[in-house]
Amino acid sequence: MMDARLQARLADNWHAVESAVADAAIAAGRDPSSVTIIGVTKYVDADVTAALVTAGCKNLGENRPQVLWQKAESGAIESPADAPVQWHVIGHLQRNKLRRTMRFRPMIHSVDSARLLTAIADEASEAGFNAEVLLEINIGDEEAKTGLSRTDIEALLGDPPTSNVNIVGIMAMASRGSNSDQAKRQFAETRKLREELQTKFGIELPHLSMGMSGDFVEAIAEGATMVRIGSRLYDGVVQLK
Ligand SMILES: *Cc1c(COP(=O)(O)O)cnc(C)c1O
Repeated sequence: MMDARLQARLADNWHAVESAVADAAIAAGRDPSSVTIIGVTKYVDADVTAALVTAGCKNLGENRPQVLWQKAESGAIESPADAPVQWHVIGHLQRNKLRRTMRFRPMIHSVDSARLLTAIADEASEAGFNAEVLLEINIGDEEAKTGLSRTDIEALLGDPPTSNVNIVGIMAMASRGSNSDQAKRQFAETRKLREELQTKFGIELPHLSMGMSGDFVEAIAEGATMVRIGSRLYDGVVQLK
């Protein structure tokens, strides 16, 4: 259990993030309900994660599958049938970690290869459901080790798995060290790419997963439908490394 004072602080942080996200949406002429906040819990343990859910955050993002399993299996996190927690995988997913991860029916934002996409389709088919995934683009950052190039994405959309996986959008991260203008430009490019892909392949890609604690305002201005917010939630709650 968490200390009551820290729990209250965490709830305050959550509400502050909710209102900052709503303000950013309104400033962009958008409906606040068109932006989902994913609380990134990679910095905190199962108890703090559980307290975040109690505060109202129902979408949880983890970048390491083992940590997702450990938390989801801990029993600490309330996930009632009428308001279940939705997990989001936001980091590189190895295929040998897929089966156990898929038990929790996460949305996978970080599809970074055709082989992973095929493996997700196979696992989902075996488990009898449709997986929702996003393709992670490596936008303007030659140094980043993860993400698909535009060419990779086009190849993938030209020959996608035919069942049990729905590609619902694109995930992007601004390159490390970007200032506000640079981040905004990269998010605008991602949005433009999404539009071009929709036209070229005659598909819908409704989601743009982009924006973190430092750049969610810019991402929402450029059409983000999911923002992945971590550190800002833990201010005064836990010391981040
Ligand atoms: C850690 C992480 C985030 C959250 O970043 P903050 O700056 O702490 O908000 C978002 N997306 C991904 C992929 C991450 O790894």
